[in-house]
Amino acid sequence: MDQAMQGEIIAIGDEITSGRILDTNSQWLSVRLEDLGIRVLFHTVVGDELQAMVAVFRQAIDRSDVVVTTGGLGPTADDLTREALANATGRQLVEYPEALEHIRQFFQSRQRPMPERNRVQAVFPAGSEMIHNPRGTAPGIFLAVPRAGRSPCYFSCLPGVPAEMREMWPQVEKRLRNLGAGREYILHRDIKCFGAGESQVEAMLPDLIRRGRDPLVGINASQNTIILRISTRGANREECEAKVEPVVRTIYSILGDLIFAENETELQDVVVAQLRDKGLSFALIETTTAGLVSQWLRAAEKQQDRTYRGGLVVEDLATAEELLAGVSTWPKASKNGEPDSALRVARASLAQHLAQVFGAEIGAVAGPLQFLNEEGTLAEFPLVLSQGDRVLEKTIRFSSHPDFRQITVAKHILNTLRLWIKNGT
Ligand code: ATP
Repeated sequence: MDQAMQGEIIAIGDEITSGRILDTNSQWLSVRLEDLGIRVLFHTVVGDELQAMVAVFRQAIDRSDVVVTTGGLGPTADDLTREALANATGRQLVEYPEALEHIRQFFQSRQRPMPERNRVQAVFPAGSEMIHNPRGTAPGIFLAVPRAGRSPCYFSCLPGVPAEMREMWPQVEKRLRNLGAGREYILHRDIKCFGAGESQVEAMLPDLIRRGRDPLVGINASQNTIILRISTRGANREECEAKVEPVVRTIYSILGDLIFAENETELQDVVVAQLRDKGLSFALIETTTAGLVSQWLRAAEKQQDRTYRGGLVVEDLATAEELLAGVSTWPKASKNGEPDSALRVARASLAQHLAQVFGAEIGAVAGPLQFLNEEGTLAEFPLVLSQGDRVLEKTIRFSSHPDFRQITVAKHILNTLRLWIKNGT
């Protein structure tokens, strides 16, 4: 098996093409194939139609070296994977006694008679190997399909039920490894940034994000977090790390504090770790995030942590003041939209009061949000952090799709807190 092996995943079923369920199996399988060094170039989805499936299988056999299908192995008339593969490869369907025995045993162990129609699950295109299914009746199929003048296409069929598919995957992986896949080590390192847009980050790193480079640096945005993925392959982990390290150093030196973490770590994990390391704790009034920051911080804490002390989820700060002080003297906003000094003082003292009430070193007040355009995609909100007699006041302006607004605001709150703890600004 050469290194430039290309993979294709085919998800089968009307349920997927009609939009009733989301094809999560392809996503799961892609990660597994990429881990083996098999570049997945195509995800194909096809409904339960024999001729359509045959066409899709033929195309996949022609253009991909490794094909994995999911779905269509059940016993009913619309489960056509076996037949389509036999048809696409010009083979007979043959009954495998060990597969029939497995299906019989499956029903016997549940003290049920085997319906006659389940017998169809014991037939395979001639020459294929059976992939054992420990959880269900449908065995999978592994078939090396010869291709004129080329290496064969390795074609595997797994069931659609995600738990069954995942449990059977190691049997496919083992076969692919025996054929030479997975000999190379593949390293991905994700560097995560917050506080600048995707194109802004890309412009800061002009020469790094270029196709065909090794290590390859890709850029991606997910809910206003920018992710730089550095990828390389080599004989082993050490070799890959040595290649990736200088690129990582360059990225850190250019992006500095825009970078908050790597790989799976989120902003809330960073903030909780910072608070823990410095022996600090935090309380927050959230007006536009419906408690999202509280939820994230609590989820990021370990059991023994007392870094997030709690806070209030309110619509307006007058209510927060009333809850904390028993009475509200909240100043009215100035009419001309200018920053109002009375409001600023009130926010700062509310943050201090909050910290006292919750027994936290740092108190914060976020919001309320103001929209700066009609679509609600550009907005700003005031954020005040207070620690002892130090106060940080900021107006954070951001653009975000309305669906991600709460998430974006929550991330801005956490990112500001992260920089304040780290740099004091
Ligand atoms: P079995 O014989 O075990 O029923 P099957 O191969 O016939 O498996 P399907 O009938 O295609 O599988 O799908 C069974 C169920 O598995 C579906 O109802 C769906 O809930 C889930 N499923 C199928 N395909 C996918 C997919 N691509 N992603 C996520 N879930 C899926």
